[in-house]
Amino acid sequence: MTQIVERHLFGPGPTNPYPEATEALGRPLLGHLDPVFIQIMDETCDFLRAAWGTRNARTLPLSATGSAGMEASFVNTVHPGDVAVIAVNGLFGQRMCEVAARCGAEVVAVEHAWGTPVDPERVVAAHPNPAIVAAVHAETSTGVRSDISTLGEAVRASSDALLVVDAVTSIGGIELRADDWGIDVGYAGTQKCLGVAPGLAPFTISDKAFARRVERPRSWYLDLGLLGGYVGEAAAKGGGRTYHHTAPVAMVASLHAGLRRVLDEGLENVWARHADAGALLQKGLQEMGLELFAQEGHRLPDLTTVCVPDAVDSAAVRRELLERYNIEIGAGVGEYAGSLWRIGLMGPNARPDAVALILAALGEVLGR
Ligand code: PLP
Repeated sequence: MTQIVERHLFGPGPTNPYPEATEALGRPLLGHLDPVFIQIMDETCDFLRAAWGTRNARTLPLSATGSAGMEASFVNTVHPGDVAVIAVNGLFGQRMCEVAARCGAEVVAVEHAWGTPVDPERVVAAHPNPAIVAAVHAETSTGVRSDISTLGEAVRASSDALLVVDAVTSIGGIELRADDWGIDVGYAGTQKCLGVAPGLAPFTISDKAFARRVERPRSWYLDLGLLGGYVGEAAAKGGGRTYHHTAPVAMVASLHAGLRRVLDEGLENVWARHADAGALLQKGLQEMGLELFAQEGHRLPDLTTVCVPDAVDSAAVRRELLERYNIEIGAGVGEYAGSLWRIGLMGPNARPDAVALILAALGEVLGR
C-alpha cells in the first residue's frame, strides 16, 4: 500500500498549497460548460489579470503546466525564420531556446553566467531587428531575479520586438507588472507562489502580440485563436462558450480559490511577506556559515540557492531532511546538481515559522 505522508514542500516547487486551494479540490464537480463553472472561469481570468498586472483581454489559465505556457508563447508568435533573442542565465532560459528553435525561430542566445541577472543592454545589442526578445523573470535554477522593467524599456527603445517573459517563479511572490513593464506575452505556473497544485499555466498576451500571431500554429491544443472561443473575451462577446477541450474543472476551482486568497491578502502584502521570509532565511543560512550562490542584490526571496559545503554529501542531507523531518528541499540542476541546494519559501510557506523549521532542521543535520 502506498503511504500517505505530509511533507513540508520547501523545494523549488510545488509548494504546499494555500488551504483554500486544497479545500476547493474537494467540492462537488461541475460540468465544464455549467453556468456556475463559467462564472468561476471568468472570475479566475479577472483574478489572473490582477496577479499579472495587466488589462489584457486574453488572460487565461492554460490547461497544462508552465512548460506548456512556454510552448504556447513561442508556437503562437514565431513565424518561420523569425529571430528570437533569448536571455539565458539558467536552465529555463536554455529551455526557451530549445522550444523557440523547435517552433522555427532563428535563436540568438545571450548567455550569462549562472547566478547573475539578465543584462538588458547585452540582450538588446545582440540583434538589430528581432521579432521576439525573451527572458526569465525569476530563474528557479539559480535563484536569481532579473529586472524586466529595464529590459522592457530597452526593448521598446531599440526595436519593435515582442517581449516574452517567464513568470513561473515570480507570479504571486515578487513584484510583477506586465503592462507597466511592456510584457507582450507572459506565462506562469500555479505550483509556486500562487500556492496551488501544479497543473495550470496562467497565461497572458497583449492585443499587439495577438494581432501578430501565427494564424494556424503547429499546435492545435495551444492555438490561442481557438482558445479564444473557449474562454475569455471572444467567448463572452460571442454570447456562448464553444467546446475546445474539457476544462480541468477542479483545478480551475482550486486556482480561483488560491488567487482569491492572495488578492484578499493584497498583492503588495504578499510580496512583502515573501521578501521578509526570504531575507530571514538568507540571513540565517549565512549566520550558519553557509554561502549563497545567487549574486547579492539579485537574490529571489522565494527561492534561495545555497552552496553545499565541501565534504558534505548534498543528496544525503536532502534525504535525511526528508526522512527525519518530512522536509523537501531541491538539488541544483545541470552542472550544479551536486553542489547547490535550492530552498523555496512560496505561497503559504513564506512565513517565519517555516524559516525557523528549515534552519533548525538543516542546522541539526549539518551539525551546525
Ligand atoms: N520556467 C520556470 C522558471 C520554472 O521554474 C519552471 C518549473 O519549475 C518552468 C518554467 C516549467 O514549468 P512546469 O514544470 O510547470 O512545466
